[in-house]
Amino acid sequence: MEKNDSDVLIIGGGLVGATLAILLGDAGWQVDVFDAAPPSHADETLGKGPPALRVSALTAASQRLLASLDVWPWLVSHRVSAYHGMQVWDAEGSGEIRFDAEDVGVDALGHIVENDLLLAVLRRRVEVLPNVVWHHGVRLTGYARDDQRATIKLDNGERRQAPLIVGADGARSPLRSMAGIPVCERDTGQAAVVTSVRTEHGHGGIARQAFLPTGPLAFLPLMIDGRDDHCSIVWSTTPAEASRMTALGKTGQSRVTLGDELASALGARLGRVEVIDIAPHFPIAQRHAGRYVDDGLALVGDAAHSLHPLAGQGVNLGLMDAAVLAEEWVRARRRGAEPGDPRILARYERRRRSENAAMLAAMQGFQRLFGSHQPALRLARNWGLSGVDRLMPLKRLLIRQALGEYGDLAERCR
Ligand SMILES: Cc1cc2nc3c(=O)[nH]c(=O)nc-3n(C[C@H](O)[C@H](O)[C@H](O)COP(=O)(O)OP(=O)(O)OC[C@H]3O[C@@H](n4cnc5c(N)ncnc54)[C@H](O)[C@@H]3O)c2cc1C
Repeated sequence: MEKNDSDVLIIGGGLVGATLAILLGDAGWQVDVFDAAPPSHADETLGKGPPALRVSALTAASQRLLASLDVWPWLVSHRVSAYHGMQVWDAEGSGEIRFDAEDVGVDALGHIVENDLLLAVLRRRVEVLPNVVWHHGVRLTGYARDDQRATIKLDNGERRQAPLIVGADGARSPLRSMAGIPVCERDTGQAAVVTSVRTEHGHGGIARQAFLPTGPLAFLPLMIDGRDDHCSIVWSTTPAEASRMTALGKTGQSRVTLGDELASALGARLGRVEVIDIAPHFPIAQRHAGRYVDDGLALVGDAAHSLHPLAGQGVNLGLMDAAVLAEEWVRARRRGAEPGDPRILARYERRRRSENAAMLAAMQGFQRLFGSHQPALRLARNWGLSGVDRLMPLKRLLIRQALGEYGDLAERCR
């Protein structure tokens, strides 16, 4: 069966695809979202009890975007954890930098949200839009394009057509490869272990990150039932170490060992650490699509770029892509232009590519600088961290970056 009444087909209904669907749906577009994941059952436990394993640190710009879509109040009514301070240090030396929301006159530097809670809230928001149709559990299996429209094949045998198509289908984007868009991929030689912990001392609303010789270790502060003694962990390390930690996370007794290792790697800043969940790990590769656009096609989120989680920017950059793409398309249509006009697609790419490329390069630079055992580089990074810590104007600039307030943002994110 072939249907062709949509304005746009969005492949992938993760955090970025769902947000784009709301942005275009709110503007009255007919949107179809196809996601390989099966329908999730409304889960009353979301945002209650122990924290979920996968979390994201959202910037102020992402918060503004979600607030403009009326999604933020729903999230807050469930569970979000604000952090007002950040401490970053070199575990091999004395360099340390501290950021505080007060330095730039804001209440919070960011908020930690649980990914499945955010996705559930976004989907609830989609449900009130009759012009957005969500197709669960369907996988893209084929893609072709003629002058007028994109045609996709799905694994349920259906074919669909529309003038515009978006790849929001993640780091290994099937649409990107079916469209023949090249990707530059770099294996970082690291894997990220994630888990949840309870700590002896309260985190006080401060996000902490120690740069260890094997990679960065982040303790992201969570407020659970009004208490500040839980953190979400992202420990980037060698694949062999990551596998060892995942094995330690499996049973109660060895979790004690993993907790001790976490406490010691953090320099005991939060006292004893108790691991309260499993500790899976994910390979970390950085990828950047050779181009973000093609005839009537745009890539957003991880499909366009995926980066090291050390700065917690992946979702944030993807949300900014979605906001800029929707802004360009909605504006174009309002003034009677074709949203698929190559000049409009090129403007989307121009507005987003340089920001994303800069962030990818920064992550690579950080990884090289802190992974180095060369004495000169170690000295430089210690001087660098402590030096920046004393330079208030530079520090303020870095805080603005952490708030996501840079680049040519969509109006609703400024
Ligand atoms: C350990 C770790 C920690 C992280 N921490 C942070 C953080 O603190 N802050 C932050 O901003 N980012 C963080 N990130 C990055 C962040 O998780 C990603 O950037 C983000 O999830 C990407 O969202 P997305 O919607 O683009 O892609 P995805 O979440 O990958 O969604 C892609 C969707 O496409 C669907 N799909 C795939 N193939 C098909 C197909 N053939 N047909 C139909 N659908 C398909 C999938 O089902 C999925 O729903 C972290 C990443 C890791 C690994």
